[in-house]
Amino acid sequence: MHHTIKIDEIIERKRDLYIDISEKIWDFAEMSYEEKESAELLCKALEEQGFEVERGVAGIDTAFIGSFGNSGPVMAILGEFDALAGLSQEKGLAEYKPLLKNGSGHGCGHNLLGTGALAAAVAVKEYLEENGLPGTVRYYGCPAEESGDGKTYMVREGLFDDVDFALTWHPMSVNAVSLMNALATYQVYFRFKGRASHAAASPHLGRSALDAVELMNVGVNYLREHIIDDARIHYAITNTGGFSPNVVQAEAEVLYLIRAPKVGEVEKIYQRVCKIAEGAALMTETELEMEFDSGTSDLIRNATLDKVMMENFHQWFPLPLNWGLILL
Ligand SMILES: [Zn+2]
Repeated sequence: MHHTIKIDEIIERKRDLYIDISEKIWDFAEMSYEEKESAELLCKALEEQGFEVERGVAGIDTAFIGSFGNSGPVMAILGEFDALAGLSQEKGLAEYKPLLKNGSGHGCGHNLLGTGALAAAVAVKEYLEENGLPGTVRYYGCPAEESGDGKTYMVREGLFDDVDFALTWHPMSVNAVSLMNALATYQVYFRFKGRASHAAASPHLGRSALDAVELMNVGVNYLREHIIDDARIHYAITNTGGFSPNVVQAEAEVLYLIRAPKVGEVEKIYQRVCKIAEGAALMTETELEMEFDSGTSDLIRNATLDKVMMENFHQWFPLPLNWGLILL
């Protein structure tokens, strides 16, 4: 006979463990692909909770999978734990107080994200066990959510091929089921190489890489009128070539982030941005080098699961049905 247990009771049993892990990851505050201590802490916790853990999957040190069960359905719960640059902060304070000047910190709560996903995976495991139900629950330790897209490599490696569905979450200021469509993205570095020269004595001998970056940005800003409304293009100049205006800047770099609802749309815009970069290099007689940094496909939502999550959500938050929906 099934004895019914509530999922919130299962979570509460290990409350102290989860708080402890979350606070440790807050202190580790490791950036993309450097989340060694955070990943190891989560791996050990998974092992202690009876999961079989495979470390360093997809050739990435901080990517791992904790697995329990060997029958269907295969449920994936995604855990992320990377920090952001410059956001070092003492915990529990609402005013700015860095632990480490210019150190990294958890600006959007990835200390909670990875830990909450662990709590969910353990709760599902215990729920299956205690109710004698079939199923496999996997915790996917996904590095580099903030930048670098660790999951992309895990998908390419086929690690998600047998998964029936994947659930994820993100800390926020409200509790809600998020019916979010994430845009597909490409992130690409454009580097220009010119020739240094004294900007007053012999400007005619210089070829400015910074000019190339500026002309590229102007070109892309003109492109905006002629792309689909839902697309987004942003850039950051990551190398201006120096701090002396009296030297022609021999190198400069700009990082572009292109987004659109479908990955094919991003690809089309990217091709046009590349042409503009080539044009900027031609205009300035500089050399262009491109480095494709990362890319993600658009998120595929599952309307059936959204509905189930919504129904379950209302057991804890009995509000009118339109509450709890977040459309971003
Ligand atoms: Zn985040």
